[in-house]
Amino acid sequence: PDRKLCIAQNVLTETVQLMESQTILNGITLDTDFHTEPLPLFIDPIQMKQVFINVIQNAIEAIGSRRGRIVVSLKQDPHTQCAVIQIHDNGSGMTEDEIKHIVNPFFTTKEDGLGLGLSVSYRIIENHKGKISVSSEKGVGTLFTIQLPIHHASD
Ligand code: ADP
Ligand code: MG
Repeated sequence: PDRKLCIAQNVLTETVQLMESQTILNGITLDTDFHTEPLPLFIDPIQMKQVFINVIQNAIEAIGSRRGRIVVSLKQDPHTQCAVIQIHDNGSGMTEDEIKHIVNPFFTTKEDGLGLGLSVSYRIIENHKGKISVSSEKGVGTLFTIQLPIHHASD
């Protein structure tokens, strides 16, 4: 795999910039809230950006034509020392039953959906020894949490 040392803030900033025109066109506010210390990750930046794009794209689609807000945040977990990336939206949300199926390939609730974005994203995160989880409430919104190990100089 094409892994290299990357700064989490840079990868996230580049992804958010890619998605910005689409959020502006949809009247969606896209905000960021990043940990100030640079967090080093040993990742394939192309694959990791694909994960963030998939999750942000889903957030945009879940907001649809409502006035919405997406917040992308980055923190360092004080206990595990992992980088914690959270993507929050106030879109349609999901039922418990939908949540159970989102990682299945080809599960989609969209008329023209492929249902592959999240299954691919979960696999990429697992390949990086990370974790991805979701909490969501129908009609309220969705929060995706991605944990990735911090790279240490001795690794
Ligand atoms: P697709 O976007 O092609 O439907 P995904 O794998 O990206 O496929 O997502 C699968 C399904 O998970 C979506 O169809 C949708 O029902 C649900 N989903 C994913 N993210 C969100 C979100 N942020 N808000 C509401 N539902 C979501
Ligand atoms: Mg998708």
